[in-house]
Order: sequence, then C-alpha cells, then structure tokens
Amino acid sequence: MKTVQRIPVLDLSDEIETLKPQLLKAFEDVLDGGAFIMGPNVKAFEQECASYLGTKHAIALNSGTDALVIGLLAAGVSAGDEVITTPFTFFATAEAISQIGATPVFVDVDIRTYNINLEQLEAAITPRTKAIIPVHLFGLAVDMDNVMKIAREHGLIVVEDTAQAFGAESGGKKAGTFGDVGCYSFFPSKNLGAYGDGGLLVTDNDEIAEKAEMLRAHGSKKKYHNEIVGYNSRLDEIQAAILRIKLPHIDQWNEGRQQAANHYHQLLEGNKNLILPVYEETGNSVFHQYTVRITGGKRDDVQRKLAEAGIQTMIYYPIPVHQLPIYRGMNRSLPNAETLAGEVLSLPIWPHIKPEIQEAVVVQLLRSM
Ligand SMILES: *Cc1c(COP(=O)(O)O)cnc(C)c1O
Repeated sequence: MKTVQRIPVLDLSDEIETLKPQLLKAFEDVLDGGAFIMGPNVKAFEQECASYLGTKHAIALNSGTDALVIGLLAAGVSAGDEVITTPFTFFATAEAISQIGATPVFVDVDIRTYNINLEQLEAAITPRTKAIIPVHLFGLAVDMDNVMKIAREHGLIVVEDTAQAFGAESGGKKAGTFGDVGCYSFFPSKNLGAYGDGGLLVTDNDEIAEKAEMLRAHGSKKKYHNEIVGYNSRLDEIQAAILRIKLPHIDQWNEGRQQAANHYHQLLEGNKNLILPVYEETGNSVFHQYTVRITGGKRDDVQRKLAEAGIQTMIYYPIPVHQLPIYRGMNRSLPNAETLAGEVLSLPIWPHIKPEIQEAVVVQLLRSM
C-alpha cells in the first residue's frame, strides 16, 4: 500500500511541544493573577518589543489590522486623503485605508522583490497624497532608506505594514522602525505568532503614541473620560504571556527560516520554469513565506498535483487587491502584480522544517511541473 505523506504549509507542533511547559506555567500564572486584559504581561511585552525593535514606544493591540487603522489615524491620516500602497498584499493593508475613509492608491510592485516599486510610488504622488504604506511582504524588508527619502521630499507620513516581517532588517535597522508608525501582526501563522489574535504598533513619536493609546481604549486616557471616538483594541494577558515566551526565540527562528530558504534555493536553482525569490536585495528576508513563481500558466496545475501528493502549498495572493470587486474601476492595470498573482506559489516553510521534508517537497514539485 502506498503511504501518502502529509506536509502542511506551516507546522507549529515542534514549537508548541518544546515550549509547552513554559506555556502551561504562563497560563497558570495569568489565571492566578486574575488580570486578563492589559495586565502586567502586556506592559512587559510592550517594553520587551520596544527594546528588541529599538523604538521609544510599543503599543500592543488586538490585531495587525487594528495596528494599521489606529496607526494611520494616530499619525494624522484622515478621510479624503490618498494613501499609496501595494496591490500585492493581504487585503487588510488596503482595508485599513478604506476603513478610515481615505483612498488607497495602488502602484505596481517590483517583479523580483514582490515589494512596492519606488519609482512608481513617487510618480503616483498628488497634492492629496498624505501617506505611504510600504509592506515588507513575505518577510523581505523594503528599501526603507529610499522610501523615507521620498517621504521627506514630499512631506508624507509613512506607516509600515510589518505584519510578515518581525525582526527583518533594512540596512541593519529593523523593518517597521523607519516610518512614523510600524505595524505588526501576531496572527498565529505570522513569523512571530500568538495563539489567537494580536498586534503591535511602534513609534518614536510621543504624540502619535499618546493618540494610539487613546484610540486603543475607546478614545480615553482615563477610564470613563472618553475624549474621542476610538476602538476596543486591547491585547489580552494570555496572548501577551505567550508572546513573551516566544519573543526571545525570534532571531533564532528567523535564522531557521533563512537556512530553510537557502536549502530550497540550492535544491531548485537553475530550473527553467521556476523563478526563485530574491533576498538580501533591499534588506534581508526572514522568509515568512518561501514563494516561487511557476511560469507558463502551469501554477494551478502544479498546486493541484502537489495537493494530490499530500503537500499543502498556498497562493498568496490569487487576486491583487486593485482587482478585487470593491476596488475595481479605480485603477489602471498593474501588470507585475497581476503576473505574480497568476504565478506565485508559497512552499511549506517554518523555522525547524527538516531538510528531508523540503527534499520531499522539491521532488514532488519538480515531478509536477
Ligand atoms: C496578516 C496581515 C495583516 C493583518 O494582520 P491581522 O493580525 O490578521 O489583523 C495586515 N497586513 C499584512 C501584509 C498581513 O499579512
């Protein structure tokens, strides 16, 4: 009988097994402590993140999406403003812009890095442009020195979407710490993930930090003294306690992902119908995803064959955001993003993926092409 292997796109079981004693102890401490929202673990986690990332303020929130919404508002973006971003991202990037009544303006990506094209970004600036959201996609840091140069020349706010790149660096500085605001997500599948929802906003600006803290808690500095209309976007103690256990491992886990990416690269290099992801080009990549391109219109077929062989892969993202029905008609065609949407395939990757698993993935991938 033929045994069918099952390889998921992300496997957290080793991590959970290793950390379980510490996690259970932390759960118990939270139960015994009796503070479940915004307690001592949240405070400590915020300080630990500020220190790791090198920012003055770190504000824990309910999700990465909330970090974007609150970050835009706290930095001074409002209804009617234009915000330039990439169409090749998770919907939440654009959704946050629309959520506050601003208008997303999509510009095309660099076909090699999958990240926003800076020449097109600069060309899209109008008198109504208020902000830029660069996205450090799949863990690869955007060339932030040049983003900041453009932003300074045109007086624009920069809100970094770092949901997929906790710990990645651009020119030796952490992604998310260049702009006015950096936004992170701790959704379980992210490279630093909680076991529920969570997010973080970082800034060096005291006014932005104060406003963000108010927006997180119903627009109040002091309970029941609500000053502006805000949100309920607090991080809970259990998630903060989990994240405090995981944060000290992040560099090692990111290195594990980089090693896995190198191994894929060695195994796949030189294959004609395959384009491999670049790294160390604009900054380093922490390989939140290892995303290849399968050319010649064969991507969906390859994915189906891999699935039949028990290997799970993902398509991030099948529809570029500017082509989603709610944004259709707003924008011209953005050919690189559209090409990528038709060709990308994200392979199984996690920090301690075994080389044998990667080799099994590659054997099936090459057989499927
Ligand atoms: C996951 C993600 C978000 C949203 O984060 P949540 O915590 O799920 O709200 C935003 N932007 C990008 C690029 C993401 O990958």
